[in-house]
Amino acid sequence: MKRGRQSSLESFFKSKKPKIQAVVEVLSEEEEIALKNALKDTSDLLIGGCVSVGDDIGSCPQSAAYIDCTGTFSFGLTQKTMFTDEQATQFKSNCKIHGFQLDKIVPHGSFHINLGCPNDITLERSKVRFLTELKMCEKLGILLYNFHPGSTLDKCKLSECLKSISDGINWAHRATPDSKVVAVIECMAGQGSNVGYRFEHLAQIIKDIENKERVGVCLDTCHMYSAGYDLRTKDTFDQVFAEFDHIVGFKYLKAMHINDSKTEYRSRVDRHENIGKGHIGSSCFRYLVNDKRFRNIPMILETPGEGSYGWEIPMLYNMVGQINK
Ligand SMILES: [Zn+2]
Ligand SMILES: [Zn+2]
Repeated sequence: MKRGRQSSLESFFKSKKPKIQAVVEVLSEEEEIALKNALKDTSDLLIGGCVSVGDDIGSCPQSAAYIDCTGTFSFGLTQKTMFTDEQATQFKSNCKIHGFQLDKIVPHGSFHINLGCPNDITLERSKVRFLTELKMCEKLGILLYNFHPGSTLDKCKLSECLKSISDGINWAHRATPDSKVVAVIECMAGQGSNVGYRFEHLAQIIKDIENKERVGVCLDTCHMYSAGYDLRTKDTFDQVFAEFDHIVGFKYLKAMHINDSKTEYRSRVDRHENIGKGHIGSSCFRYLVNDKRFRNIPMILETPGEGSYGWEIPMLYNMVGQINK
């Protein structure tokens, strides 16, 4: 059922490609109605939030369904995360029951992992933890493993840090030759000595990956904005993603983190805000839910406040079809 509806959207866009790629206003009235209708089919719009693992990873899918995540959700892996084979089986069957496809779930790796670390001992620990979490994903049947690329700690060159990250990913790939889990590099805000805040950094890491089938990126709107990618107007939004496509390529986009920003443009400070309440504003999120390039891409909210997904997810769905500037 899902595939059928999806292909109708794809064929609509294929037939309208030149005009869609220009600006929406050039559409005739009938075409605009057809576009709105095509977008309104939200079976391929995947919006979820982050749920806590607690003591039982097997119940994460229920928690995600409870907060109305549709098609996707995230959870944080930490050094304390452990589960039995039985819990992993339960996780998979609960995903099935609640309509989550395993290839659209995007767990977040431990924050302390730094594959670009200039200190050998810490780097070794990071690599081991990275591999452990990659294997955890595999055990859960999950295909996307999202993680922060790393930081120089102001003790090595950017190029050395990026190379070390690629090496770490290659090492983990080689250690799991039969795995299909994709290492999804998150774009960062550029706070402190974190790398990965320019598309060029992501492209450089990917360039040195041996198995390109197993690498991807996750774009976080808050991080992008803080790092200096302006997403506030349709023109700047289009420019930013054209730049992303040129430098990294949409084929590597595996997930989005959709957060507004508490801090200003180019602040390079990473502080998430609820949708529409921060410096980015709600328009950016309206563009996202109405852009075919982000359909079938898991979009994860990581916004503050208990219960905030309860109004944010419906609000994002309500934006579907609002395609005017
Ligand atoms: Zn993150
Ligand atoms: Zn963040």
